[in-house]
Amino acid sequence: MIMKNLITSSLFVLLSVTLQAQVKTYVMCGALIDGTSNKAQHEVTVVIEGDKITGIEKGYPKMNKKDTYIDLKDKTVMPGWFDMHVHLEGEFSPTKYMERFTANEADVAFASTVYARRTLMAGFTTVRDLGGSGVNTALRNAVNKGLVVGPRIYSAGKSIATTGGHADPTNGMKHLLMGDPGPDAGVINSYDEAKKAVRQRYKNGADVIKITATGGVLSVAKDGQGPQFTKDELRGIVEAAKDYGFVTAAHAHGAEGMKRAVEAGINSIEHGTLMTDEVRQLMIQHGTYYVPTISAGKYVAQQAEVKGFYPEIVRPKAREIGPKIQETFAKAYKAGVKIAFGTDAGVFPHGQNAKEFGYMVEAGMPPMEAIKAATLEAATLLRVSDKLGSVEVGKIADLVATDKNPLEDIHATEQVSFVMKAGVVYKKE
Ligand SMILES: [Zn+2]
Repeated sequence: MIMKNLITSSLFVLLSVTLQAQVKTYVMCGALIDGTSNKAQHEVTVVIEGDKITGIEKGYPKMNKKDTYIDLKDKTVMPGWFDMHVHLEGEFSPTKYMERFTANEADVAFASTVYARRTLMAGFTTVRDLGGSGVNTALRNAVNKGLVVGPRIYSAGKSIATTGGHADPTNGMKHLLMGDPGPDAGVINSYDEAKKAVRQRYKNGADVIKITATGGVLSVAKDGQGPQFTKDELRGIVEAAKDYGFVTAAHAHGAEGMKRAVEAGINSIEHGTLMTDEVRQLMIQHGTYYVPTISAGKYVAQQAEVKGFYPEIVRPKAREIGPKIQETFAKAYKAGVKIAFGTDAGVFPHGQNAKEFGYMVEAGMPPMEAIKAATLEAATLLRVSDKLGSVEVGKIADLVATDKNPLEDIHATEQVSFVMKAGVVYKKE
């Protein structure tokens, strides 16, 4: 009897799976930028079954009652965008520094769900969260379970720094509270500790490794650009990351820190503000990606003029470093450095990520390449280009659409009217 029930129920499951697989969703696109071709196609239909793209057909199909049809005939459809540098746990404000003492983990978690939703609705179906307290990793799990609406998250957990470095969590506190954080908290001071910190992140369930190779703008510390890791420490990070299959990212403003990180084999340089020709050549040689975050640079430079928005120790750094990133991007692009789209959202309000497209185009990158930087290039950096980053048969169905064609006006990306992630529609205006 039990056996019979088992057989009947397995048959039922099999049958319903088969039935489900037969239902197709036809997304009828006015124009399609597929992420691989250099030209948009016109009047094409993307066929979706479950979470996968199973066909791309010329023209529009004849409708029947069984299947689902999504009419985007007056829109431009693209692969879902990637932002390779966000911080979903928070958003900067004049009270941000105090929140270290006032906000509980649950407060951070609730706020992060709002930022996650905003990010997805802005067209970003995949993000790399490059540093938080660990709530970012829990947020990833909640999104994956369907508890929270948000982008697919690749989380770094807590980023790794050296004592007093850009991501030392007790910077700026009174001595009694500073303590001596170690590898668990993301603070290392030797080759062995570097390895331990990476292994701890593996244990904590991180997907990627983020380090702060130089000083940074928004930490309560004087220096914004000097190197903060020895070559040995960087070797420890990269060796352990390779053992566990982690992609590595290094925040860096000054050239020496960038040089050491690139030579050690870090996969991407974030911000890259004071990049020299030597660094650019090294990045090309090593195949290192550049993730520019022009948006963050523009925003901190602007907010530095608002008295009281940042602590006084931060203002001169924001004024000096912020405005330089767009020019650095222009030079890196011209030189042929590989570029993946990233904004540092959280430094500025979440949901405004697409402004970065405009800044990239303004600095000389053609719109088609900017879109590729946010799709196939980003997927390649994340090592997920076998399943994401383009509209091709066999890939996961992540799609965004805009009313106007971004190849004609890149600012069209700031008005997303349709978002699909893994075959599920999250936005349709
Ligand atoms: Zn950042």
